[in-house]
Amino acid sequence: MATNIGFIGLGNMGGPMAANLVKAGHKVSGFDLSEAALAALEAAGGSRAESVADLAEGADVIVTMLPAGAHVRKIYQGEGGILDNARPGTLLIDSSTIDVDSARVVAAAAAGKDMPMVDAPVSGGVGGATAGTLTFMVGGPENAFAAAKPFLDIMGKTIVHAGDAGTGQAAKICNNMILGISMIGVSEAFVLAERLGLDPQKLFDISSTASGQCWALTSYCPVPGPLPSSPANRDYQPGFAAEMMLKDLKLAQDAAHSSGAGTPLGAQAAALYSLFCNSGGEGVDFSGIVKYLRGTS
Ligand code: NAD
Repeated sequence: MATNIGFIGLGNMGGPMAANLVKAGHKVSGFDLSEAALAALEAAGGSRAESVADLAEGADVIVTMLPAGAHVRKIYQGEGGILDNARPGTLLIDSSTIDVDSARVVAAAAAGKDMPMVDAPVSGGVGGATAGTLTFMVGGPENAFAAAKPFLDIMGKTIVHAGDAGTGQAAKICNNMILGISMIGVSEAFVLAERLGLDPQKLFDISSTASGQCWALTSYCPVPGPLPSSPANRDYQPGFAAEMMLKDLKLAQDAAHSSGAGTPLGAQAAALYSLFCNSGGEGVDFSGIVKYLRGTS
């Protein structure tokens, strides 16, 4: 059955996610600050809303895919925002990657208006958004998760209920902290191997079947050669840009500070990605940090 879906934030990720909801037969009305993004939704078969309030009034389900926590708080809780204009019972799905505290504050405000809400950040990038194969990490009450699942199934392949409000965001930043740290570890090993005269292919062959094995090595090898699909073979074009990794590592550090968790390697990884981004690496794939590390001897 066609559902009236409002989609706010039709950028690199939100655009193709909204298009997949249209393809599945839903009536999608979109809002974005970008004229090009709105035109792309119309071309895909959706319609444009004139404002957040206009979109919220007519929607049964609202999905948001915005840059950061400040945008999400404003769009939900600000004047003319979702919570003041949507009907009680409207299902709210925020798929932006944002700080855990904002996710929990907005979810509590939504609960106060009888609007079930999940935080549902994704991994899988623009390729996964286009193909409808994203992984969703979902935080929120069981009833909100159950209501959101049929829509997440259209946009993604793996949908995991992580726990209460905010735990989707927690899963996302914990996972990406592992990834950032392990990418630096793998990159440092290749830099050291180069200095020691060890062929990178040999290090790959040995470590990929030994205790150094990890995703950063065997699915996303940061040096050209061993793994033809990795961005290292196309001059580190993203993929997953270093500035996005830095955003997630900073979110992890914010959460570590506010929760009192000790994450010294997470802090170091954030500092190294910050240096890499400031030296011109922002738009480079995050595995390109190997080039920065080579230069730090
Ligand atoms: P993007 O910048 O391409 O899209 C964000 C969109 O939000 C833009 O079109 C912008 O115009 C719109 N927007 C901003 N403020 C708005 C407002 N007040 N009202 C309406 N629209 C507004 O970003 P993206 O790459 O699509 O990423 C979106 C989110 O997904 C981010 O939180 C990001 O961290 C996360 N994410 C991105 C990727 C990726 O590979 N790009 C992967 C996983 C998660």
